[in-house]
Amino acid sequence: MKDRQKKIHYEKTFDCVQCGYCLPACPTYESMKKETHSPRGRIHLIKQFAEGKVDIEALQEPIDKCLGCNACSTVCPTNVQYGKILEGAKQVLDEQKPKTKIQKVVEKLIFEQVFPSKAWMNTIGHASWFYQKSGLQTLGRMTGLTKAAPLHLEQFEQILPDLPSPVERMHRPKVVKTAGQRRAKVGFFTGCIMDSLFFGINAKTIDLLARAGADVVIPDGQTCCGALHAHSGKQGISKELAKKNIKAFEKAFEGEDVDYIVINAGGCGARLIEYGELFEDEPDWQERAEGFVARTKDISEVLVELDTLTFTKPVKEVVTYQSSCHMLNVQHVVEPPLRVLKSIPGIVYREMEGSERCCGSAGIYNILQFDESMKILDHKMDKVKMTGAHTLVTTNPGCLLQMKLGIKRECLEERMRAVHLVELLSEARPLGRPESEKDR
Ligand code: SF4
Ligand code: SF4
Repeated sequence: MKDRQKKIHYEKTFDCVQCGYCLPACPTYESMKKETHSPRGRIHLIKQFAEGKVDIEALQEPIDKCLGCNACSTVCPTNVQYGKILEGAKQVLDEQKPKTKIQKVVEKLIFEQVFPSKAWMNTIGHASWFYQKSGLQTLGRMTGLTKAAPLHLEQFEQILPDLPSPVERMHRPKVVKTAGQRRAKVGFFTGCIMDSLFFGINAKTIDLLARAGADVVIPDGQTCCGALHAHSGKQGISKELAKKNIKAFEKAFEGEDVDYIVINAGGCGARLIEYGELFEDEPDWQERAEGFVARTKDISEVLVELDTLTFTKPVKEVVTYQSSCHMLNVQHVVEPPLRVLKSIPGIVYREMEGSERCCGSAGIYNILQFDESMKILDHKMDKVKMTGAHTLVTTNPGCLLQMKLGIKRECLEERMRAVHLVELLSEARPLGRPESEKDR
């Protein structure tokens, strides 16, 4: 019982005074209208489970249906660390849940082999490119074969981004130097899925940083941030991945000053900035992790701090913005993406009602909890439509795919698109400003 309570952060559950202030902020409480599917109800259940008063079955569904969006923590007046409690509960559930041999093998393969491996991620990227370019995609759609895919993957297949060729992927340089005056040295965190399926956005991020005056290094040996593992209850593997990333960036910058470690995905950023908290029982690693965290910033924060880009091509569109929950509620990065977005000439910015609410993507929630996710997405799309926007901007790959899916479900592809912030900034033809022109 003591071990369970430690893992669950039992002592933190007492910070919840059951006031219910978080209920209106919770998307699953809004859509399911059940106390057990609210933050307050979940914390109460987790506490009871830690005390042995309810069994695992009572906890499983409410925890599985939680998006992990952390909107509840942001509004909580007593600063309940819901994210920590949730991760602990997921770990205990994962450890205690009965699994078949096949399930164990599949989980081991996905979490320990596929996601942490650059080779696997590149292979997925190459295979997706081949699928798109060889005619297999067209054939699959024409014959209806894609409809046979499990877990509604057929819907996600339709919004797969255009992938670069293997040649392009394998020839990305490891260092990109700025053509102008050097104002910073940065390490770029590529991510796993981001580098596999959104390679083009990573390439644009590197280009933007170089244009803004940064020398960009892409360290070898970096791996998945570990967010997916932590959200699936695999805390041990997540911690190992954190160590690998810290080591990779230390090695790449041995003896050199690095100004920033840059990320362009809200979900990864939220995990990276929590690395320090993972090593409370390993002081050496904690110090190294804190050094890593101190430099870690989202691309929008770095562009605002450098303040060196000017955009030369107007984007004459009505634009709205959907926040990434993890960027908003964990990284607490609010203003920088809006500031760089609004600096693009020609755009008309329209704020979306409830833009801070989760879109229902939440890692792989939209695959595992498809029906709940689509309810949340449909509600989100009502708000998107009210803005009259042509372009919907996000800052996380999961949100981007979910928004593309929302546009497709609403048959709005003719008049609306979803893009990553970096893509829109690149369209506006950014140029570095000489030092003498800054602050004009
Ligand atoms: S989590 Fe915070 S806001 Fe929600 S019921 Fe508990 S104390 Fe109140
Ligand atoms: S993390 Fe999000 S979905 Fe889960 S309880 Fe908090 S607000 Fe609700």
